[in-house]
Amino acid sequence: MTTTPVTFRRSKTDAPAVDGLSMPGQRPLTAPPSFHVMAKPTGAICNLDCAYCFYLSKETLYPGDRFRMSIELMETYVRQLMESQAAPEVTVAWQGGEPTLMGLSFFRQVVKATKRHRRPGQQVTHTIQTNATLLNEDWASFLAEENFLVGVSIDGPPELHDAYRVDKHGRETSARVIAGLDLLRQHNVEYNVLCSVHAANADHPIDVYRYLRDACGASFIQLIPIVERLSSNRAPGAVTDRSVTSDGWGRFLSAVLDEWLVHDVGSVFVQTFDASLAAWLGVPPGLCVFSETCGDAVALEHNGDVYSCDHFVEPEHLLGNIMDTHLLELVASEKQRAFGAAKRDRLPKYCRDCDVRFVCQGECPKNRFLVSPDGEPGLNYLCEGYKQFFHHADGPMRLMARLLQAGRPAADIMAIFARAPRNSPCPCGSGLKAKRCHGRATSAPATP
Ligand code: SF4
Ligand code: SF4
Repeated sequence: MTTTPVTFRRSKTDAPAVDGLSMPGQRPLTAPPSFHVMAKPTGAICNLDCAYCFYLSKETLYPGDRFRMSIELMETYVRQLMESQAAPEVTVAWQGGEPTLMGLSFFRQVVKATKRHRRPGQQVTHTIQTNATLLNEDWASFLAEENFLVGVSIDGPPELHDAYRVDKHGRETSARVIAGLDLLRQHNVEYNVLCSVHAANADHPIDVYRYLRDACGASFIQLIPIVERLSSNRAPGAVTDRSVTSDGWGRFLSAVLDEWLVHDVGSVFVQTFDASLAAWLGVPPGLCVFSETCGDAVALEHNGDVYSCDHFVEPEHLLGNIMDTHLLELVASEKQRAFGAAKRDRLPKYCRDCDVRFVCQGECPKNRFLVSPDGEPGLNYLCEGYKQFFHHADGPMRLMARLLQAGRPAADIMAIFARAPRNSPCPCGSGLKAKRCHGRATSAPATP
């Protein structure tokens, strides 16, 4: 957070006059230097009906609405976003629902608006998170031309992906997703894969990971645990049958880590592992769930309403509307700063005393609905899994941190593990024989 006020000057622009407030003359002291906005131009509207999607129900927040962001509102948003960022990198991120339902013409106008409002020195990255089923040649050409980074949701091989990712008729979607992904690859569009981990795929970590790496060609993978809380007074910690178990999440991450350590360090970026390594290095993780505080990633609904976070699009977490109050003022507001600080301030003692708190930080507040062993509410549902994973990762993370601190690439760990005799102590320092620790990871090397 900066304590130096920065004066904003509106850049000269040929943009049409739009509604919305002017940027305040002085940057609020509580404003973060940069922040992320997940903009939802179709609100919760999607062409698919994924069983675990937490966002589809948000449609009820706006009864009778058409759920389409107007061009005027988009222009105001893009302008305010550009004005708000003190760091030179600006990410213009679209998400849903399914943002491609807006059609290509909307995104062509987004790119034009971004060019109009870009301030000197700003580098803009366009991103879009999509289920990829509506992509065609025109979309792929556009995304390539404008250098979009495209996030595609894939939960593993077809039989695992299709367990929950179905369309409005309950039909499987994997073939349509892969067709969309193939178009992106043919057009050399940069893409990454977002994989939700749930009851159907959690017991198949290696199948899932290899499918994403080999069949999908993913070199950047986000793994997201599906935790759907059941609201029941009788069982406050209950979750749906689709949710990943805490233990299952820990085992999934540990198994993928072992595969990654043997074959893919430096060539496949797994966001959870990268963010974890940052903690072992003592640098900010770059991932809100593992940060001590959060609040620098808000959600923008189709009508300009801004909420504290994508996972807290609820009336009590509405910050305001960008047509009434500048985006930066909403992000810097006392309400939003308190939201972000609560991630740290409401951590139960059980977490504060935990040996892996430095990396876990209690994970996301949305999952903190258990009671800790000493009777305090607010323990994360995934606690057991995270403890398991972070203890499993401790040795290799320490080793990679030492490599990096010595000026060597983290990828050197692969050669260290490969050289370790199976009956010798594992180089990770666990005290186990290599064959019972990271030497047991196996198997087929990455396909080229
Ligand atoms: S509430 Fe959770 S998802 Fe939202 S910003 Fe905080 S840590 Fe991230
Ligand atoms: S592992 Fe569990 S106890 Fe430790 S910080 Fe994370 S949620 Fe808290």
